[in-house]
Amino acid sequence: MANYFIFPKTLIILLCLNSVVHPIEALSQPWSLLDAPKEILQNLIRDPLSLSLASTDFGHIIHQNPVAIFAPSSTKDISKLIKFSNSLPIPFTIAARGQGHSVNGQSMTNDGVVVNMTELNKGFGNNGSSGIVVFDNFVDVGGEQIWIDVLHATLEKGLTPLTWTDYLYLSVGGTLSNAGISGQTSRFGPQISNVLELDVVTGKGNLVTCSTKKNSELFNGVLGGLGQFGIITRARIALGPAPKRVKWLRLFYNDFSTFSGDQEHLISVNGINETNAPNYVEGMLLLNQPPLDLSFYPQIDQPRITSLVTQFGIIYIIELVKYYDDNSKDHIDQEIENLVQGLKFIPTFIFEKDTSYEEFLNRVHFDELALRTQGLWDIPHPWLNIFVPGSRISDFDEGVFKGIILKQNITAGLVIVYPLNRTKWDDNMSAVTPNEEIFYIVSLLRTTGFDKLEAFQAQNQQILQFCKDVGIGIKQYLPLNKSHEEWVEHFGLKWETFEKTKAQFDPNKILSPGQTIFN
Ligand code: FAD
Repeated sequence: MANYFIFPKTLIILLCLNSVVHPIEALSQPWSLLDAPKEILQNLIRDPLSLSLASTDFGHIIHQNPVAIFAPSSTKDISKLIKFSNSLPIPFTIAARGQGHSVNGQSMTNDGVVVNMTELNKGFGNNGSSGIVVFDNFVDVGGEQIWIDVLHATLEKGLTPLTWTDYLYLSVGGTLSNAGISGQTSRFGPQISNVLELDVVTGKGNLVTCSTKKNSELFNGVLGGLGQFGIITRARIALGPAPKRVKWLRLFYNDFSTFSGDQEHLISVNGINETNAPNYVEGMLLLNQPPLDLSFYPQIDQPRITSLVTQFGIIYIIELVKYYDDNSKDHIDQEIENLVQGLKFIPTFIFEKDTSYEEFLNRVHFDELALRTQGLWDIPHPWLNIFVPGSRISDFDEGVFKGIILKQNITAGLVIVYPLNRTKWDDNMSAVTPNEEIFYIVSLLRTTGFDKLEAFQAQNQQILQFCKDVGIGIKQYLPLNKSHEEWVEHFGLKWETFEKTKAQFDPNKILSPGQTIFN
């Protein structure tokens, strides 16, 4: 059990709610939870299982001990909790937790209260939670909702959000606090560029509706704002017509600059209504390291793929998708032919699948189910996600993919690399990117046992140090812990606004302490 002597005095009283604590401890405080609104008292949870779940995340690297979990049954409850904290001489910290799919403690607090956002969903209909309500051009979604449910609800009306993350069991509030990127981002922007309006409970406890026209400083601050200014309780997200099916292609390259040149060519046609543009462009590496995951490819092709990887050490793969439906099914093959015409992939190393739109979007969930059965899901994930300026991506390939990852004797795991168009991002928002027209997301998505965790963490540091040494101006996505100076550097020109917005909306610095920006 947690040692309550290290908790702030204000919260010691919380411990006596449904846990064992010396009552005198509670009575000796000048302020008491007995003065707190009833909704706070009745919604606090301290059972060991809930506390233990909230003290870890998908990363399984950081562990923090919250004092209690708050299960809000309405957005008003969240507001009351935040106001109560602010009313105390020493406010306690509050961490919203969507799905806890962060990898570095971002949704945790060591000495405060975790708000379990999933609880909001349970009372939908009479509690101020938005649930999921689909309109003609947009959907109103509670911040606690997960994207797979948004997909299902919108598909029922023949509609869909335009842009996604690779994995859909993430909360809307969680991805909008970062950016929300995937293969659709180069054409349709990150998820934060597709938000029309938000309801936010600020760090002062006020419920504010905001958009680019109304309370825009809060709107822009919250999108990509790492949970620092308020808790998103509703997001209005743009919709378009949903396709039925997709052509899903993978093209192989043995030369990095040919690969990235073709990727950049593919994302150069990116108008939202452009019929000749791909709907999704990503990329990944196949490294000559076990285990080689060839599950996408026909069995008959797997031996020749294996020998290609053995021959070159690294194979670069473009992943390309074109949507279609009943109206376009007669010319989809021609459209695919037009798209790949002129691309310089290795002849005959082009593979295609035809699948439903839903199955494609939900693809990572199938991997999740397989990994879960092998016990490979709830183990450490020392991930590193970085944005690399387009002008330096070849240096990154030489120095990191070939110079570090391929040479070291630890399995890289899934390595994703694809370019994004900066014009699709709104620079007024908090999300940070390199200052170049084209930049790449590089995601090193490792899964490991505790025995190799340190080796991966050391490799991550080596990669960051390499970029620093050779002057590649990367920006971290889903940033890991940083010192104050590193955060200031991370936000660059945006830091002044970020700090000011914090002072305006969360002056006591109580929200999302797990990001370690202001504490
Ligand atoms: P949490 O981990 O619960 O929270 C993340 C941060 O947001 C915390 O600081 C938290 O306090 C804050 N927060 C949570 N809810 C709210 C809210 N309602 N209002 C304000 N702040 C809030 N990201 C991508 O962009 N693209 C991908 O393709 C992608 N794939 C992924 C695949 C997997 C398997 C996993 C585990 C993660 C992936 N991610 C991806 C990263 C993911 O988007 C982030 O980790 C995101 O924060 C997870 O959402 P969550 O609901 O679990 O957030």
